Amino acid sequence: MTAEWDVVVVGAGPGGAYAAYGLAKAGLRVLLLEKEKIPRYKPCGGGLTTKVRDVLDFDFAPAVEQTISQVSIAYGAERTRTPAGIAWAVMRDKFDALLAERAARAGAELRDAQPVSQIAFDARGATITTKSETLRAAFVVGADGVNGIVRRAAGLPPHRRLAVALEAEMEAPSTALDEWRGTFHLDFGVIPWGYGWIFPKAEHLSVGIGYFMGRGRQHDLRAELARYIGVEPSLRGAKERFARGHRVPLGGQFARYHAPRAALVGDAAGVVDPFTAEGIYYAIRSGQIAAEEIASAFDHDEFDLSAYTRRINTEINSDFRYAWALTQVFYRMPHLAYHIAARSVSVQDAAMEMAEGPSSYRQTILNGMKRLLKRGNTGRV
Ligand SMILES: Cc1cc2nc3c(=O)[nH]c(=O)nc-3n(C[C@H](O)[C@H](O)[C@H](O)COP(=O)(O)OP(=O)(O)OC[C@H]3O[C@@H](n4cnc5c(N)ncnc54)[C@H](O)[C@@H]3O)c2cc1C
Repeated sequence: MTAEWDVVVVGAGPGGAYAAYGLAKAGLRVLLLEKEKIPRYKPCGGGLTTKVRDVLDFDFAPAVEQTISQVSIAYGAERTRTPAGIAWAVMRDKFDALLAERAARAGAELRDAQPVSQIAFDARGATITTKSETLRAAFVVGADGVNGIVRRAAGLPPHRRLAVALEAEMEAPSTALDEWRGTFHLDFGVIPWGYGWIFPKAEHLSVGIGYFMGRGRQHDLRAELARYIGVEPSLRGAKERFARGHRVPLGGQFARYHAPRAALVGDAAGVVDPFTAEGIYYAIRSGQIAAEEIASAFDHDEFDLSAYTRRINTEINSDFRYAWALTQVFYRMPHLAYHIAARSVSVQDAAMEMAEGPSSYRQTILNGMKRLLKRGNTGRV
């Protein structure tokens, strides 16, 4: 059977949408399949760093709920606010729909409410079954998130490092909305090996809690989130609309992200920052790299995507090894880490460099240590 599509992209989150966008711009026949009706809700803080602005080649302002200029960090009642450069808060239904719409405008065909139920790979491509049809593609991009089916169908290994998070969308009194306007709030005293957050949206607050999974670490996230909401003074009088949870697959270990006729991007690949749990940028960036490598494979009629795996490992995972090392120190002693971060301008500068990129974790950790030593000698931190 000849392939009717060059590439079928499974999943229209940021990873899949941006891969489809790049592939369509490269002139390939691309079908973007999404399980849910678009726009669809996704449990996510929706925090975007400047890395997202720098990687996208179009404006996402129509999806922005709030522009962020401050970060508030806390350990329970102890809290500090610092200027944060610039960041944005989005709701994922709008943001992801905007990306999918840009992919469609670039020439990808977008079909929503089309869950892919089965994929069978062979030497010439794949046969893809959705709830209403069977399709042929020469290549498949797995952008179907942490529980995706493409990874399994392509015989690629399971995620090894995970975090888990639960988020509530909350109606809040105007005093609370005012308190958090333009501010991301992170509280490292809420849960061991994790943090709680309050991210402001246009007319409500996204309030969440999450932790890095590990041996002996198991929490009832619903109970922990209820407790957090109960003790957080700024949430007095706030009302939960609904809460949803999700697993978060962390990067930082070298792995394989391609098979003969498939590549994984975003959460399907497991390339979330293992220190902050930022995943949107890495989904977009891996989608972009996948589009480049797949377009080149079509150009050369040579479907060895090992260059894609190599680029994900060198451009993303090698630095994430430092992020993971930082996680082991920071979250092991969060109270001390909070005090250092709250008091030290050097550490705050380093955190900002890290969030904004292109500075690497490796470089930022080295710079932070140098600054601490230098200022320690002069008595300032
Ligand atoms: C509670 C929480 C808070 C977070 N907060 C932040 C944050 O503030 N900032 C940040 O950068 N990251 C955050 N993250 C991480 C971020 O949400 C993810 O890393 C990001 O969504 C990954 O994008 P993606 O496109 O790879 O996958 P997803 O966004 O998960 O998209 C996958 C898509 O595939 C579709 N799909 C799945 N199966 C199928 C199928 N069989 N057929 C067709 N379609 C299918 C799904 O419906 C979905 O639309 C958070 C995560 C959680 C859980």
